[in-house]
Amino acid sequence: MVTTATRFSRSRRATVVIGAAVLCVAVAGVALGATGPAIQTTTPQKASQITNVDVLRQQIRNYYGDPLGTGTFAPDSNYAREAESVATAGEHWLAARAHAQAPSGIKAIVLDVDDTTLATWNYELVSNWAYNPTTNATYVNGELFPAVPGMVQMVNDAARMGYAIIFITGRPASQEAATLGNLTDSDTIGLDAGYPAPTTLNDGEDGLFTKPTVANYPDYLRAACAGDPGGSCTTDHYKAATRAHIESLGYEIVANFGDQYSDFSGGYEDNTFKLPNPNYFLP
Ligand SMILES: [Mg+2]
Repeated sequence: MVTTATRFSRSRRATVVIGAAVLCVAVAGVALGATGPAIQTTTPQKASQITNVDVLRQQIRNYYGDPLGTGTFAPDSNYAREAESVATAGEHWLAARAHAQAPSGIKAIVLDVDDTTLATWNYELVSNWAYNPTTNATYVNGELFPAVPGMVQMVNDAARMGYAIIFITGRPASQEAATLGNLTDSDTIGLDAGYPAPTTLNDGEDGLFTKPTVANYPDYLRAACAGDPGGSCTTDHYKAATRAHIESLGYEIVANFGDQYSDFSGGYEDNTFKLPNPNYFLP
């Protein structure tokens, strides 16, 4: 039986798998504990109501314009088109707001990293959609992720419009240098997706927020996540508390871009833009 402690480990996909495991327990007639499955959904009555997992994997490959599963998505794929449409909508919103008075004075955008600014399609295929922190770290530290279509132009245009560019990712602080290196030209390892450097905030912090270990939490995370298991922030609490911190410095987050709904919950954002991601779900 999977323990609650395991469930809240960093491994994003472990959470989903355990949710399914708990569901199986429920089907077998064993009582659930106080903690339910991570994903709240319906219970199909018949197998015919469920998309076969192998069929679903092929549908996703087709959506990425990669029917043979090479790990490279096509620039004219439905995925690329959908991502570009979100980036375009975000840019229109930012352009319309660029000259409006921000009550707090400093306009900013917030961006998630995985599957919002950097596309992890290559890793999804290599891992067969089974996230593993060790193999994932090979891709992160090798800086092997290309840009999400449409996002580089949008972010560069936002920077030109005067927006502060701030990244908030659930990646650990130990991966901050590699994350910066993949997003920008800060090093010569792997890919440079072409994003502008994160804005240095007015208190001197760099504008790339990675998730610290609990022992290294700043006060605003310690306070916001005291009620989370082991005092370790859930993804949505970590991201919302970090946005609250940014706004406390005088920034107004005009747009928040993410691929997971947990990127958006908790407020401190004027508008949200959801990038497509059929590959995993982070509660
Ligand atoms: Mg993401």
